[in-house]
Amino acid sequence: MTDLTKKYGTMVFSEHVMKQRLPSDTYKKLSKTIKEGKPLDLDVANSVAHTMKEWAIEHGATHFAHWFQPLTGITSEKHDAFLDPVGDGTAITKFSGKELIQGEPDASSFPNGGLRATFEARGYSAWDPTSYAFIKDEVLCIPTAFCSYTGEALDKKTPLLRSMAAIDEQAKRVLAFFGKKPAKVTVNVGTEQEYFLISEKDYAQRQDLVMCGRTLFGAPPCKGQELDEHYFGAIRPTVNDFMKELDDVLWGFAVAAKTKHNEVAPAQHELAPVFCNANRAIDENLLTMEMMKLLASHHGLVCLQHEKPFEGINGSGKHNNWSIGSEDENLLDPGDTPEENLQFLVFLTCVISAVDDYQDLLRMSVASCGNDHRLGAHEAPPAIISIFLGDELSDIIDALAEGHEAGHASRESLDFGVAVLPTFDRDTTDRNRTSPFAFTGNKFEFRMPGSAVNVADANTMLDTAVAKALKDFADAMDERGDASFESAAIAYIRKSLAAHKRILFSGDGYSEEWHEEAVRRGLCNFPTTADALPAFVEQKNIDLLAGMGVLSETEVRSRYEVKLEKYNKLMNIEATTMERMARRTYLPVISAYATKIAKGITTVTSAMPAAEMSHERRELSTLLDGVDAIYEGIDNLADLHRKAKAFECAQDQANCYAHEVSPAMDRLREAVDAMEPIVAREYWPVPTYDDLLFYV
Ligand code: ADP
Ligand code: MG
Repeated sequence: MTDLTKKYGTMVFSEHVMKQRLPSDTYKKLSKTIKEGKPLDLDVANSVAHTMKEWAIEHGATHFAHWFQPLTGITSEKHDAFLDPVGDGTAITKFSGKELIQGEPDASSFPNGGLRATFEARGYSAWDPTSYAFIKDEVLCIPTAFCSYTGEALDKKTPLLRSMAAIDEQAKRVLAFFGKKPAKVTVNVGTEQEYFLISEKDYAQRQDLVMCGRTLFGAPPCKGQELDEHYFGAIRPTVNDFMKELDDVLWGFAVAAKTKHNEVAPAQHELAPVFCNANRAIDENLLTMEMMKLLASHHGLVCLQHEKPFEGINGSGKHNNWSIGSEDENLLDPGDTPEENLQFLVFLTCVISAVDDYQDLLRMSVASCGNDHRLGAHEAPPAIISIFLGDELSDIIDALAEGHEAGHASRESLDFGVAVLPTFDRDTTDRNRTSPFAFTGNKFEFRMPGSAVNVADANTMLDTAVAKALKDFADAMDERGDASFESAAIAYIRKSLAAHKRILFSGDGYSEEWHEEAVRRGLCNFPTTADALPAFVEQKNIDLLAGMGVLSETEVRSRYEVKLEKYNKLMNIEATTMERMARRTYLPVISAYATKIAKGITTVTSAMPAAEMSHERRELSTLLDGVDAIYEGIDNLADLHRKAKAFECAQDQANCYAHEVSPAMDRLREAVDAMEPIVAREYWPVPTYDDLLFYV
């Protein structure tokens, strides 16, 4: 082993460690649980717990924690020491199977959307053995699912696991028609995490960044991203040091951090790991996000994970690369002749119909206060869902939907025209960066999720919708009567594609024309979170989620409440921060600067009455108009903010925030931003976009 590989996975209780350290029968039983989803008995748990504790203590751990994903926020943990006093002034270490598999956090302060009253505060966390336990800052963290006393899921992991089980079950039914019997079909996910790095010193001076994670004010910088010089540019030393430390730490957690680069916007970067099963991929992403924030501080930096920290330049997303596969094959791999690959066409058709049928649910799953500023803006997908397939597959799908044979599109080769350079096959899925849901070779890339969120929601909805489409296909095949499977399957595909073709779109998703075209096609367009959330509780979506065993109606309704509540709270924080900053940070300095100019005029004209000072007078009047506009902006925002807070119904409140308060915030921002380029630099009270974006 080289030094590079030696560090990999040292902080996780991985399959490799289990194999080495667990008694062989324990290992076998645990493997069965992990690979086939079989229940675990307490004897096995006791044995695993003992080994895990010994391993963790050897690696410096003093505590253990059930690590879980509550409905808001990212992850939660409560630490318990391994030490147990024996009563004579000494102590032993203890960690039982029961403590491993089950925790009982007093969870009354976690959001639950009415699922659990404070008097029934008990929640249970249950070990998820399909994701690795890891040691973080001397704490053995055990990935767990979290549910209420009455068994309702209170976290993001539980429904995700249920949706993956639904895919497993339905995909296996479909594969059985092709004579295949894989042990397991799993969902694979690779997340591309975008983020910004700015200096800690600048960050601390901006209340909006500290309170809201984004700038609520700020005039455009002298240059933005128009020179395209940052994307893939040489990584500056401070950022590079941060990235190196991040890689090192992530590799220790067996997070296969693979790609790192500068992104399009100044100060923006990206990290992508190698994909793995969705459950672990999401745990890894959450851990990665936490480490990014923590390690940035070692370098005098702050990592901004908000979807739109800066207006006018790109926001940050988390492209969710998604595929399904068995141990032997990727079910979304088209192979060399996709037009003859019936199995691939079945899976592709099911994804297409699922995305079309549940576009509203998918849109809902990526709705957040932060993402509202990103979707539909600078180089981010629009709020409308459509699928991009690439030329080759589009031709095949068109032919199928229209009922004629699809010809084979021969692959063109790509020749650089320079003899020493190699010639290779042209990729058949040309990239369309504007598509929210693009087929990229052998996976779909869902590009709408925001950088700050737990993508469990998006994956849960996608998995469930696709599982339902696979189920519908398998049910139809079960009932096909005398027809051969092949002819019944082809007939099904043709019909389904003809019905769902409207969701396919290869053009420019950023264009105005697409918005109009999408409306004509009857696709949904929910510009804000307030508009998108009601889809969660639409009857057809409750039927889907409950019918596939992913979320009961009660769970759906409570989650809808939690999402609304979170949106309203964040909007309240933003509106409050904005009013305060405008009044207390900006107004005093703009007024002071106006006064300075006024004094200058008085001083000069008293010394030299003939001086006209016309420029100074004009400047002064612009400043005074600006001060007026800011006062008006504050009053207007305060009125609408009060109006929003008075609503009893959370959905009404959200609508008011989205459609009345948010535009008022834009107006106030505009008034303040208009002053920034004319007030003297030494007066301006906070670091500007020029300061924030170009000095790290
Ligand atoms: P891009 O060029 O769009 O950045 P990459 O091929 O580098 O795409 O992959 C981006 C992410 O997709 C990575 O996390 C990668 O591991 C993941 N990925 C690749 N293949 C698959 C697959 N079959 N299923 C899920 N994710 C995948
Ligand atoms: Mg990218």
